[in-house]
Amino acid sequence: MPDRERLVRTVTELIRIDSPTGEEDAIDAHLSARLSDLGAAVQHDAYGNLVATLPGNNGSAGEPPVMLSAHMDTVEPGRGIQPSLDANGDTLRSDGTTILGGDCKAGLAIVLEGITAAMEDGGLGRSVQVVFSRAEEGGLNGARNLDFSLINATNGMVFDGEGPVSRICVGAPAQNVVQCRITGVAAHAGLEPENGVSALLVAANILTRLPLGRIDHETTSNIGVLEGGLKRNIIPEQAFMDGELRSRDQAKLENYTSEFRRAFDQAAAMYPRAQIDLDIRNQYQAYRVLETDPALMDIARAVTAAGLAPALETTGGGSDANVFFEHGIVALPVGIGVRDFHTTRETASINEMYDAAVVCQKFIRPA
Ligand SMILES: [Zn+2]
Repeated sequence: MPDRERLVRTVTELIRIDSPTGEEDAIDAHLSARLSDLGAAVQHDAYGNLVATLPGNNGSAGEPPVMLSAHMDTVEPGRGIQPSLDANGDTLRSDGTTILGGDCKAGLAIVLEGITAAMEDGGLGRSVQVVFSRAEEGGLNGARNLDFSLINATNGMVFDGEGPVSRICVGAPAQNVVQCRITGVAAHAGLEPENGVSALLVAANILTRLPLGRIDHETTSNIGVLEGGLKRNIIPEQAFMDGELRSRDQAKLENYTSEFRRAFDQAAAMYPRAQIDLDIRNQYQAYRVLETDPALMDIARAVTAAGLAPALETTGGGSDANVFFEHGIVALPVGIGVRDFHTTRETASINEMYDAAVVCQKFIRPA
């Protein structure tokens, strides 16, 4: 069985190692050493993602390993985090000036504890492939650059979801990033305003044409950044927009992407002297698994074996699981006992982390 005290020790150790996106070397060294001590063959790909393989002992030779994944980076403010346990002995939180980093240190700790417990209780049933990615936050860049030739797992679990481990994420949206640079014509605002074309006005015109917000139950969009202009008395020549479209339905994503393009074209027609450079790029694909999917049933079995009731959910956010899915690996996100991701109110429940470690152990060692 997992050891609660050891789990608390591990997660607080990991939280104390700063690892904002792009600065994962220290935590990577720590995790690599821990996995080597467990007997894993630890590798890194060119991007720095950690891939560790542990052989099973349950006559599983020839079967592909199962993947256990989490990510090593955190968002900001995530430096010098001081984790402490509430008087209830269960809730871990920061001092309120930083995030906790439970996303995804809780996930990393759960994987280490699940493997350790399985080894203490007679060894791994199945071969395991641990994938700890870099730069998940802000674009899944680690997973997108993962050297998939190192991976032979075809299914697994991604320990990176909110709430209890019984929450299994069976559907997630695709995301298109929408960026636009608008070049108008600069002119003195007092002397010759009629000679200028305001890039900000063009941007505003575009904004009013776009379908934004929650478009339907599985589609959202946002323009999150609008920048531009130089000085009060100059007609703004430059504007920049950064936004996104997401849908769990690929056809809808394509339809709304076309609608976005039309809105930009209409604005361009209204302002012929402005130049509009629109760039819409797919970041990751949507996924959806059926209740009968063997990879899902494998996880649900482990959740049930831990005495919990699986809750199948969909999300509005992407994760490394989206990228794994594109490469034919069905590794679904589950809860890691963490709440209020990416805020200074973030908490982790030790009880729920413990449950997740039990599920991890049951997953890699089927009875
Ligand atoms: Zn995360």
